[in-house]
Amino acid sequence: MIYLKTDEEIELLRENNILVSKTLAEVGRHIRPGVTTKELNSIAEDFIRAHGAVPAFLGYQGFPASLCISVNEQVVHGIPSSKCVLKEGDIVSVDCGTFMKGFVGDSAYTFAVGEVAAEVRQLMEVTKEALYKGAMQAKAGNRVGDVSAAVQEHAESFGYGVVRELEGHGLGRKMHEDPGVPNYGARGRGPLLKEGMVICIEPMINMGTKAVVFEQDGWTVRTRDRKPAAHFEWAVAVRKSGPDVLTDFSIIEQAINN
Ligand code: MG
Ligand code: MG
Repeated sequence: MIYLKTDEEIELLRENNILVSKTLAEVGRHIRPGVTTKELNSIAEDFIRAHGAVPAFLGYQGFPASLCISVNEQVVHGIPSSKCVLKEGDIVSVDCGTFMKGFVGDSAYTFAVGEVAAEVRQLMEVTKEALYKGAMQAKAGNRVGDVSAAVQEHAESFGYGVVRELEGHGLGRKMHEDPGVPNYGARGRGPLLKEGMVICIEPMINMGTKAVVFEQDGWTVRTRDRKPAAHFEWAVAVRKSGPDVLTDFSIIEQAINN
């Protein structure tokens, strides 16, 4: 069941996703060698609650933290830990959710810890570009497959692996609504995009093989070949005039470039 949102509901989703963007910016300010992913989780949880929202991931299907923090070969759903100490050259994918005023925010950003290798920097850039290219297809009259194909084509043109087991989704009063938004697919296929749909587009792109392993902790997904992966996510409202991006990466990028 796909729920179309009113303009008012889209504004509440925007409020949530701006708060997620601000939370990711706050986390980004604290990312440096020596910090633990558990410390980053606490910073985010405090920030979200101080802004009148609730961390949407905490307790979701039993998830034990407010952020998913996935380092290097971890693709998504990493559990913050006091044992996970970031070091120079790591990349860290941070996925954040909020719940406020009856709606959910959900966005993700992959950060560099200090200087990272050029090939890893490229993986991050290309994954973000794949998100942008997918999002440009999020207009009424297109189909989900137009978004999926744009993401896949860009990532694969660099020889990267596009994860198949996980996908984007509708966003609203619940974190995971219909339709599913895969990061691979064919143009002109899949559900029709309509004015008022809100979807999360979230490429999960591996430097090497697309194959992933689900770890024994019940959550963490990592690359099978243990090469790095990147993950960027936007919430986007589908409009007749084109995509209306509800997430704001400029807030994050201003914070980390200062
Ligand atoms: Mg997310
Ligand atoms: Mg999501």
